[in-house]
Amino acid sequence: MDLGISNRQAIVCAASRGLGRGCAQALAAAGVNLVINARNREVLEETATAIRSDHGVDVIAVDSDITTDAGRDAVLAAAGVPDILVNNAGGPPPGHWSDWNRDDFVAALDANMLSAIDMMKRCLPEMIDRRWGRVVNITSMSVKAPIPVLGLSNAARAGLTGYVAGTARQVAGFGVNINNLLPGIHATDRAVALDSDLAAAKGISLEDAKAERCAMIPAGRYGTSDEFGATCAFLCSKHAGFMVGQNILVDGGAVVATL
Ligand code: NAP
Repeated sequence: MDLGISNRQAIVCAASRGLGRGCAQALAAAGVNLVINARNREVLEETATAIRSDHGVDVIAVDSDITTDAGRDAVLAAAGVPDILVNNAGGPPPGHWSDWNRDDFVAALDANMLSAIDMMKRCLPEMIDRRWGRVVNITSMSVKAPIPVLGLSNAARAGLTGYVAGTARQVAGFGVNINNLLPGIHATDRAVALDSDLAAAKGISLEDAKAERCAMIPAGRYGTSDEFGATCAFLCSKHAGFMVGQNILVDGGAVVATL
């Protein structure tokens, strides 16, 4: 399928590894020129080189912390306002509801709610002027079905979801579509970290921890970044112009719900 976005420009935040990288690769495969971001310059440059070589698009790599004002300034200075914005950042640490203090919540809100809102606020006016734009926020299945050990994530992402629900409807009339993508468990470094935490907490092996988490997924496996990225690219495509403010699960059926 021709996604109709060749030669458009995208920012993909937190994209050197994992789901962000999957989104960047899928957009590049559709002919989109990229600004990609992450903190570790070496890994980011490797990813940029691989995407350029695989897809022949322009890729600018900006090593900065997207959860800081300076980090977002650097990305926008390199990119200008893009046609496509994919918001992403690392996920908060797991724990127990009684563990977290105010600073922990503020850090989670900065990373998984306020950074994405700031990027949208800075990109939407020009997208509206151009009468075309796509924003995809990577959130989590925890928006639909809370993951108890990820209380910081549950809380921050719920806030972003509420903001998007209203804002998406305010900008849709200008050809600007904002949607959220909700990953279930995908085979990334983040999944390995959470498997390791479970293994340590239960005194079981990493393999057993992974098997335990796999057993909760009707598809019987973890998702891949490529699958996730392809869904993101579709949401950024010309074909998704009538999708507004949706929360799309990519979770192998893990959230048990009829709707
Ligand atoms: P990952 O494999 O750990 O990759 C995270 C990526 O984000 C890396 O490129 C990392 O590079 C970058 N990053 C992290 N913090 C950053 C920051 N402050 N500024 C800029 N870049 C940053 O994680 P993932 O599995 O792709 O997860 C992506 C998001 O989806 C996370 O919020 C995660 O909680 C959420 N999620 C993941 C899953 C899953 O199963 N994988 C499920 C539900 C939700 P640097 O470290 O070099 O910055």
